[in-house]
Amino acid sequence: MKPISRRAVVLGALGCACVRAVPSIASAYEEVAEGIFIRSGLDEEATSDNDGAIANVGFIVGNESVAAWDAGGSLTDGEHLREAIRKQTKLPVRYVILTHAHPDHVFGTAAFLADKPEIIGHAGLPNALARRGEYYRARLESKLGKSRAGTVIAPTRLVEKQLDINLGNRRLTLTAHPIAHTDNDLSALDQHTGTLLASDLLFVRRVPALDGSLRGWLRELRQLKALPAKRAVPGHGPAGVDWPTAADSLERYLNVLLTETRTAIAKGVPIERAVDVVGQSERGRWALFDDYHGRNVTQAFKELEWE
Ligand SMILES: [Zn+2]
Repeated sequence: MKPISRRAVVLGALGCACVRAVPSIASAYEEVAEGIFIRSGLDEEATSDNDGAIANVGFIVGNESVAAWDAGGSLTDGEHLREAIRKQTKLPVRYVILTHAHPDHVFGTAAFLADKPEIIGHAGLPNALARRGEYYRARLESKLGKSRAGTVIAPTRLVEKQLDINLGNRRLTLTAHPIAHTDNDLSALDQHTGTLLASDLLFVRRVPALDGSLRGWLRELRQLKALPAKRAVPGHGPAGVDWPTAADSLERYLNVLLTETRTAIAKGVPIERAVDVVGQSERGRWALFDDYHGRNVTQAFKELEWE
């Protein structure tokens, strides 16, 4: 029998009834700590084939209710997430926590509207969605079609600094971070299991995408490493990783970007040439390096050239 790929598991082997032993959508979810179920996203760009299932999303189950951890990268991806929750528990989905405005994390929100959840986000999320949401929606729609892409849905509750939510004998501490991966990053610490849900403040395996501040991200990473957590859930990469050791590769990448961009600026290397020389030692260490690294250098250059 053909081995089942991780891709087929993530996508629930959709559209192929011919495959025997089709893995269920729920089987893509791994219980990384008691009551925390995460689906590891594919290291791909969003396409019609993968339904935008490229970020790590999941859910946390308490004694009384459930929180969705991000909503998925499309309406279809969000529907799969909701289906996985319903297979696991009958408890109500009281919260949908949106970790930041990037499309692979938010476009499944509409799948949860019937549950009437609180949709929680960073205080900067509404602005970010207003700025970029329509652009993201049009781009996703051109790949997936209108019925599968989803719509931009604003949060109903904002986090300025910190917010505790209780799922029933399970407290999640949500933290709104200063500018780092983006200007609207939200993380959560599950007090019950000592699990840091870092979303895109932590990339593992897939090359990081810098859309906020390089110095800010390094600063927030140092803060996160000091938290009393023994495991973390990255926004991209495996569903669960050891903490804080899993931050090492990201920290190395960001430090190389910082040091070598500063050197390029000091030597008078123009921005369009910097992308060819900065951080080349990181090539081969990350998936999708050529898709994002150049943009990261450009972003870093713009941030550092006036310091
Ligand atoms: Zn992101």
